[in-house]
Amino acid sequence: MPELPEVQTVIATLEKQMGHPEITGVSVIYPRILANKTPEEFSDGLKGQKIESYGRRGKFLLFTLTDYLLIAHLRMEGKFYYFHEETQPYKHTHLIIRLDNGELHYNDVRKFGRFYLYEKGECPQCLEKLGKEPFDENLTPQYLKKYCRDSHTAIKSQLLDQQMIAGIGNIYANEICFACHLDPLRPAGFISEQKWEEIIHHTARILAEAIQQGGTTIRSYTSSLGVTGLFQQNLYVQSREKEECRICGTPIEKTRVNGRGTYYCPRCQKKEPIVIALTGSIGSGKSEVCACLRRKGYPVASCDEINSRLLEEPETLKRLAEILDCPAEQLDRKYIASRIFSDESDRRQVEQYLHGQIMKRIRQWISENEAESYLFVEVPLLFEAGWDRYFDYSLLVYADEKVLYDRLKKNRSMTPEQVRERLSAQMSVTEKLDRCDGSIANNATLEKLQQSVERFLNRLPSY
Ligand SMILES: [Zn+2]
Repeated sequence: MPELPEVQTVIATLEKQMGHPEITGVSVIYPRILANKTPEEFSDGLKGQKIESYGRRGKFLLFTLTDYLLIAHLRMEGKFYYFHEETQPYKHTHLIIRLDNGELHYNDVRKFGRFYLYEKGECPQCLEKLGKEPFDENLTPQYLKKYCRDSHTAIKSQLLDQQMIAGIGNIYANEICFACHLDPLRPAGFISEQKWEEIIHHTARILAEAIQQGGTTIRSYTSSLGVTGLFQQNLYVQSREKEECRICGTPIEKTRVNGRGTYYCPRCQKKEPIVIALTGSIGSGKSEVCACLRRKGYPVASCDEINSRLLEEPETLKRLAEILDCPAEQLDRKYIASRIFSDESDRRQVEQYLHGQIMKRIRQWISENEAESYLFVEVPLLFEAGWDRYFDYSLLVYADEKVLYDRLKKNRSMTPEQVRERLSAQMSVTEKLDRCDGSIANNATLEKLQQSVERFLNRLPSY
């Protein structure tokens, strides 16, 4: 099936070959290819119109006429042929548009292609539900993450969803997953913003390169206009079953994902654990959730624990002494705290160093646990530090403010002022609820909290 680069190639070639002719007549041989007009309406509309400009949206070809917008979708095997003079139709020609400089024939063995005609100014219904273009600057990791929230759909299939991104088909979805080292089966709702950024980058890159090469010529697509696509030479996995991976030499494998042929390198695209960040304000019940997860057998890491361990290591203290320009033996938690509370630049430097080290430890811990399906990391200030983008999923544990106050006063014997101060230093629950991927409310008993955790775990995709 022609995808975005092939459609772009077809429309660009038509523009080059035909220019801006006037339509002198139309023969509709197979009326069912007309989606929203009768053959008479279609012919009457087109006759006398000039093709003013050519365009593309997703996999749709757009012809802007004097008073109309003509839209075509090639589906599986639709092809255009342009002839300078009157020509006998082929066996599978379903539509002939006569021009003052030749004839445009539409040929389609499978008869799946469709034509739409809209008056100028009319909202073209067939384009209404299309998602963002791969080159649209509004195609952001945040948009994609939100679009796929909680989706269990395999990423390979999700990339084919035209309402999310318009124009990607099977070939390029396979290539994009490979370029991003992504297991095609990974559930789309469990991919980090950082990874989505990579997906956006490679999608635009691969499609742009394919357009430059005139698309990919394999099986169902040949541009039919005398132009042969060359991108097949740049394919890394598509149609390369049993051939060696161009990166690591492992034989490429083929499987089916939701019925579509899916090619991948089992080594470059190996399954990686889904890493869930667990966050929540002080008193929300994070620690109870962590304990519960550990009891269920899930590996859990804690940023606070990593931080404490780091501060006991000579290497860290040496580096912090350099940053704060003081003798190492003077350094202890109290001294560090006093310095970073009194000096903004000290605080920034110390945090930057410690955050970098913590992230390094987390990555190492993830790779030590790579055989697991799910890993949890407790990150108290996940959103405040902007760390949510590194995790595949963010889970918020929260309690209503009144419950939090009571809990903190009771369990940590804090004064109302201390409680208020601690809570006001953090992002509001409303904002966190908006940003997290999933949440667990903890306003009642420990037993209820454990039930909620179990419900959350049961809803996770089996991966
Ligand atoms: Zn490989």
